[in-house]
Amino acid sequence: MSRETLGMSAELLAYVRRVGAREDDDLKALRDETAAHPLAVMQISPEQGQLMMLLLQLIGARKTFEVGTFTGYSAMCAAKAMGPGGKVVALDVSEEFTAIGRRHWAKAGIADRIDLRIAPATESLKAMIAAGESGTYDFAFIDANKPDYGSYYESALVLVRPGGLIAVDNVLWSGNVIDPTNNTPDTTAIRALNEKIAADPRVAISLVPIGDGLTLARRR
Ligand code: CA
Repeated sequence: MSRETLGMSAELLAYVRRVGAREDDDLKALRDETAAHPLAVMQISPEQGQLMMLLLQLIGARKTFEVGTFTGYSAMCAAKAMGPGGKVVALDVSEEFTAIGRRHWAKAGIADRIDLRIAPATESLKAMIAAGESGTYDFAFIDANKPDYGSYYESALVLVRPGGLIAVDNVLWSGNVIDPTNNTPDTTAIRALNEKIAADPRVAISLVPIGDGLTLARRR
C-alpha cells in the first residue's frame, strides 16, 4: 500500500533510495523493526518520508499534526525535519503500534517534540478546534481510517494556516481507485475525496505518485 512506490521496478526503486533519500540510523532502526510486523505495509516509504521532510523544511514548519501514527515513522520524520522546538501532534487509536514509536522516539532524543494522543482522530481533531487551535498548524499528514478521510480533510483545512500544507496518503489505493468493480468503503471514500480535492478552490494541489499516491494540498 505504501512501503513501495507504485509502478516502479524494484531495481529502479533501490536506485532512487540510494541516491535520492538519506535515511538516518534512527529512521532505519524504526523501519527495520516495523518490517517484521504483519502490517508493515502501513509504513510510509523512505523516499516518501524524505519528500515530506523536505517539504516541512521548505515551509519552515514548526507545528504539525498527523492522523494515523502507526509505529511512528512519519512522526519521527516530521520531528527531525523541524528540529528542536518543533511540535508534532500524533493521533492514533493503537497503544500497541505507537508503543514501538515511543521507544524509538525516546532513543532518537526527539520524544519531547511528539505529543501522542490515543483516541479516535475525529474526536481529537474536534477537541483541537474547540481549544482554539484553528489556523495554527503548518502541516497536516492524513493517513488513517479511509472512510473518515473526508472528515479528516475538512478538519485539517480548519487547523492548518493559510499557506500551510495538507498531505493525504494512499490516494491511489494500489490502483483500486480506477477499478470500477472495486467499491469497498475504503476505495469509495478515497475516490470521493480525490474528486472533491480536484475541484476544491480552497487549495492549490499536486497529486504526487510516490508510494501509494500522496496528494499535496496547500491551503489558500
Ligand atoms: Ca499510508
